[in-house]
Amino acid sequence: MSLPTNDQMVAHLRQTIKVAARAKKFGRHPFGSILVDADHETVLLEQGNIDTLHHAESTLCHVAWTNFSPEYLAKCTLYTNFEPCVMCAGSCYWSGIGTVVYGISEDRLLDLTGNSQENPTMSMPCRNVFDAGQRKVNVFGPFPQLEQEIIADHLEFWT
Ligand SMILES: [Zn+2]
Repeated sequence: MSLPTNDQMVAHLRQTIKVAARAKKFGRHPFGSILVDADHETVLLEQGNIDTLHHAESTLCHVAWTNFSPEYLAKCTLYTNFEPCVMCAGSCYWSGIGTVVYGISEDRLLDLTGNSQENPTMSMPCRNVFDAGQRKVNVFGPFPQLEQEIIADHLEFWT
């Protein structure tokens, strides 16, 4: 299987920012995730945050699992504007998705959300979750050059 190029990763991360902005417009938290096919161009699914237990990535994994096979998903890439939490990283692992690309680290999100009751951000690198598994998941991120674009929808959102 091939991996996305840096330009492809940046372009798709910019799409997750749009999905996150759409979620925010509908009163949800500004998190967005997309699933891209093995050609690294075709967007198969888009998902914004729904609520505390239905994060953008975990929900996208459930929809992906319902529509595609694990063998197919192994060649797909999940993009998300922020590093997946433990629940979402676990969902990526169990759904068989081969590659995960995130824009900003969960630690940086924690800086932004603070002790917000709505989003009590954890501090656990997704690589720790994947490293504990038996199946390899390729991980890319963070992308500091996109930080300002990604956090624009988060500034003053959590305070
Ligand atoms: Zn999550």
